[in-house]
Amino acid sequence: MVSDVTTTQPRRLLGLRQMEEISRLVLILRLIYNAQMQRRQTRQIQVGNVTIGGDAPISVQSMTAGYTHDIDECVAEIHRLTNAGADIVRVAVPEKKDTAALPEIISQVSVPIVADVHFHFKRALESIEAGVQKIRLNPGNIGDIEQVNAVIDACKDARIPIRIGVNEGSVVERKDKQKRQEELASFFSDRKQGHLLAMMIAKVEEYLEIFESRDFHDICLSAKLMDARLVIDIYQELSKRFDYPLHLGVTHAGPRETGSIRSISALGSLLSQGIGDTIRISYASDTVYEVEDGIELLNCLNLRTRIGAELIACPSCGRIQVDLFKLVDDVRKQLENEIDIPIKVAVMGCVVNGPGEAEGADVAVFAGDRKGIIYVQGERVANVKEDEILDRLLLECKTLQERVQKGETTLGEKAVTIVAPITIEGNHT
Ligand code: SF4
Repeated sequence: MVSDVTTTQPRRLLGLRQMEEISRLVLILRLIYNAQMQRRQTRQIQVGNVTIGGDAPISVQSMTAGYTHDIDECVAEIHRLTNAGADIVRVAVPEKKDTAALPEIISQVSVPIVADVHFHFKRALESIEAGVQKIRLNPGNIGDIEQVNAVIDACKDARIPIRIGVNEGSVVERKDKQKRQEELASFFSDRKQGHLLAMMIAKVEEYLEIFESRDFHDICLSAKLMDARLVIDIYQELSKRFDYPLHLGVTHAGPRETGSIRSISALGSLLSQGIGDTIRISYASDTVYEVEDGIELLNCLNLRTRIGAELIACPSCGRIQVDLFKLVDDVRKQLENEIDIPIKVAVMGCVVNGPGEAEGADVAVFAGDRKGIIYVQGERVANVKEDEILDRLLLECKTLQERVQKGETTLGEKAVTIVAPITIEGNHT
C-alpha cells in the first residue's frame, strides 16, 4: 500500500450537513484571506526609478554594512545587493567624508540610494546635494526644529522623499531624561496598555505635524521594534491612522538564524493583511541574505512574480533512503545557476507521502531505495540510480525550460495529478 496510515485509521464518513458546513467554512476563510490580502491604498512616493505605495509592487530594500566613505567597498556591496535583487539600497552617512563619497558611489550604481541621517542635519543637506534619491531621518535625533525644516525644504526643492523612521530605542530624546520621564508618565496615565506603542505613534504624529505644516507630503513612515508582535501592532495602527506608504521592518532582529523567524512572522503577517509598501529585513549577517529572504517572502505570499525556479522539498524522515539534504542542496545550487523561469521543482524523500505533497510541481523526483523516480508535468519520465538523480533532474528542468521558452508548453497550467507508484522497484523507465 502507498501508506499504511490510510489503511489502519478508521475512516469516518461525513454527513451531507457536515460537508455543507465545511464547504461554507472554507468559503468564508477564502473570502477573509482574499479580503485581507487586498492591498491597503496609500499615497505614492518616487525613489529614483522605484515607486513606493499605492498599487506599486512592494519593493525590497537593504542597507550596506560597510563604511560609505570606503567607495570601492561600498560600491561592491551595493552591486552584490543589486545582483541579489534589491530595489533600493540605504547607506549610513555619519561623517562628512561619507557624504563626500556619495557622488562617486551614485555614479557607479544602478539602484536608488537612500542616505540614512542620524544626528546631523548637515549630512542630510550634503546628501541631497550629492544626488541621493531619498533621505531617512528621525527628526527626534536632530532636535532643532529649524534644522529639520532646512532638510524638509531641501528635499522639497530636490523633489525627493523622506522616510520618517521612529525606532523603539530612539523614540524620545535620550539626552533629556526628565523629558523622557514626563512623556512616559503621561502615556502610562492615558493608556491602559501599549505605552511604548502609544509613545511611538505620538512621536510619528508630532513629526508629521512638522512636515505637513511645511506642506511636505512626500513621506514614507516606519516604526520599528524588536518584538514581532509589537511590530504587527504598531504598523496596524499606523495603517489605520495615516495614508502614507509604510516601510516595514524589525529592528535589531539578530542573526539570520533567529532574525529570519522574527522578521518573517512580523512582516509576513502585515503583508498578508495588505499592510506594507516596501520592506527591509535586517540581520546581523551578510546583507545579501536580507534581500534574498525579503524577495522569497514576497514570492511566498504571491506578492511578487518569481524569477527562477521554486524548490520544494520534504523534511525527510525515517522512510528516507537517499542522502536527501545533500541532494536538495545540490539541486538548489544547480537550479540557481541554470534555470531562469519559475519552474516548480519538488524533491521528495520517498514514494509514501511525496507524490501527494509534490502535486502541482512541474518537475519532481521521489527518491527511495537508492533510486529516484522523476516526473515532468505529471508524466513519469525516468527511474534512475541515486548518483544519477541530480544530473537527470537538471536535464529535465532545462528541457522543460527550453520548451516553455519556445512556447510549446506552459508552467503550472497543465493539470498535474501524480499517481503514487506502489513501489520504487519495477519497470518504471
Ligand atoms: S516524503 Fe519525505 S518526509 Fe514525507 S514520508 Fe517520504 S521521506 Fe518522509
